[in-house]
Amino acid sequence: MLGKVHLIGAGPGDPELMTLKAARALRTADVILIDDLVNRGCLAHARSDASVIEVGKRGGCKATPQEFIEKLLVQYARQERIVARLKGGDPFVFGRGGEELQALIAQGIEVEVIPGITAGIGVPAALGIPVTHRGLARGVTFVSGHGGETDWSALARSGTTLVIYMGLGNLERIASALKSAGMSPQTPACVIENGTLRSQRQVVATLGTLSAAGFEGPAIIVVGEVVRLARIALQEKKAA
Ligand code: SAH
Repeated sequence: MLGKVHLIGAGPGDPELMTLKAARALRTADVILIDDLVNRGCLAHARSDASVIEVGKRGGCKATPQEFIEKLLVQYARQERIVARLKGGDPFVFGRGGEELQALIAQGIEVEVIPGITAGIGVPAALGIPVTHRGLARGVTFVSGHGGETDWSALARSGTTLVIYMGLGNLERIASALKSAGMSPQTPACVIENGTLRSQRQVVATLGTLSAAGFEGPAIIVVGEVVRLARIALQEKKAA
């Protein structure tokens, strides 16, 4: 007999944005493997005797290598444990959940995937930004700002809202790539740090003026006309 792994998305930050299904799975878990970005408030649903294993970069340690996490998941499931693998946002959006799923399936282990609200939707929403607002965006593109292979010029022409994960360190490079590709510097843009948490901070500006000095992340960058609808931007206008 084998155990089971629940591959769970914990949502974008605020523990109340986790799903009921995630909370139920956590209550059944013997072992919980939890990522850095997951708010510890989510563990309120865990059994008090569950073992909680931190597998992230917190405390200045090196990130737990992905293969080691996969080995742990397999190992605990083989010990007939109910395992909860708790990841930030949605497990399959820039989260390497796909690799974990494949590794478990390859070993014949039962997996249930429980989706979560990804930061790219939940965080802009916390600011009142509807990422696909009709008339302002033809769609939305989720893209990583980390790494060098993105075709920013194609994205600049796409007419979709750009939601950029892991882009804080490359903010200037991304903004200038989009401008060189012909995107207007007047295009509304924002950076939101620690979205949906009490520590949330944001800068609502334009592509030409956007800066995130002092932000240390995690942060989402949103570029597109829909950013006009940000509640904060509207309040600032009213006040002016
Ligand atoms: N699987 C996650 C994303 C993991 S990649 C999801 O679906 O949301 C990590 C990136 O997500 C961060 O670099 C940041 O860009 C974004 N992110 C996660 N939580 C965030 C938050 N509370 N506020 C702003 N950005 C966040």
